[in-house]
Amino acid sequence: MTRTEALTVVVPRETGGHERRVALVPAQVSTLTAAGLAVVVETRAGAAAWFADDAYASAGAEIVSGTELPALADVVVGIGRPSPDLLRAGQVIVALLRPREDPALMGRLAALGVTAVSLDELPRTLSRAQPMDALTSQANVAGYKAVLVAAHMLDRYVPMLVTAAGTARPARFLVLGVGVAGLAAIGTARRLGAVVSAYDIRPQSRAEARSVGATVLDLTTPDGGGEGGYARALADGEEAALRTALAPYIGAADVVITTAQVPGRRPPLLVDDAAIKSMAPGSVVVDLAAGPDGGNTAETRPGETVVTDNGVTVVGAADLAATMPTAASAAYSRNVTALLAHLVRDGRLAIDLTDEIQAGVVIAHDGRVVHPVITRLLDHGGGLS
Ligand code: NAD
Repeated sequence: MTRTEALTVVVPRETGGHERRVALVPAQVSTLTAAGLAVVVETRAGAAAWFADDAYASAGAEIVSGTELPALADVVVGIGRPSPDLLRAGQVIVALLRPREDPALMGRLAALGVTAVSLDELPRTLSRAQPMDALTSQANVAGYKAVLVAAHMLDRYVPMLVTAAGTARPARFLVLGVGVAGLAAIGTARRLGAVVSAYDIRPQSRAEARSVGATVLDLTTPDGGGEGGYARALADGEEAALRTALAPYIGAADVVITTAQVPGRRPPLLVDDAAIKSMAPGSVVVDLAAGPDGGNTAETRPGETVVTDNGVTVVGAADLAATMPTAASAAYSRNVTALLAHLVRDGRLAIDLTDEIQAGVVIAHDGRVVHPVITRLLDHGGGLS
């Protein structure tokens, strides 16, 4: 089949500020071509993640310049929201579109006749959806990298070190929020030899933290479980009580890694100014919840590293997965390929909103917003955050 007949998947170079990832890597090109699709890659789309144009070409992709992409694309695969120049009616875009943050954009894509598919709306608890779970694959990278960033910033050893001249005690790591990233952080910190404790307001996460070898803080807090396996937002009083309970453990830690999030809400404030002031000079906090709405600490500046007056380094680690683009892209590429395999039948796109996975990820189709949550947000005139 020639490319003009085949459904063509286009891989653009990402345009987001510090984005170094690419949505598809050469290893998955042949999977798509074997399924009857054509793959077209923008020149140097994978270069920042160390995937060369030649590697894509050897795997069966066609390499074209950015100006040629819009005319070729039936399906655009991306990490972040694609450039509007790429889009036209009848096209499908598959990316982490963050539709809850900008429902109006989803409305505009629908009006343009674009089918918008967002990996961040995948129903994650369905076991058949797990190979497509990009939030998990990227959070795994971020949790791992958070520990490396902390260890790099920490001016002392992480493991216990026994030398003829004496013994250095192992560093104490505290992980707050034990979802996917928190579990990856616990595992990595333990492999580096840290003494690791952890806390989460969901009892299930506390059990998971224990099972990967962390000591779970012995606190009395209300059950923080919410919908879909996620946390619920705590009431102001509950959140303040949690901060008070956590404070002495934060003060005793050399490194605090925070990952606490509640879907569609501001991240909870877990580490306030008093807690940071109680930490020893040279301690490090890495806040993976850093984003436009702040983070888990009072000192978090998204994308920035701040050293407080008392010598605590606070890393506002927005999107750490993008700082390890080779691993993150390889994992994302497997996720996106698994989702495409689910969306395509006999080389053609088969949108079926009665399918549970598709009902989750398809946000706009056939000229309208079809996702119930995004429709509701549009009707109420705004985003959740
Ligand atoms: P997330 O990024 O939304 O949140 C990170 C963690 O922060 C969560 O564990 C949450 O409970 C915790 N948190 C929120 N508020 C807190 C607070 N005030 N104090 C302390 N901790 C707080 O979560 P995630 O990592 O995307 O995943 C959430 C859960 O969903 C995880 O347990 C994960 O294992 C589960 N999950 C399940 C599947 C599956 O069943 N296949 C797939 C993916 C994720």
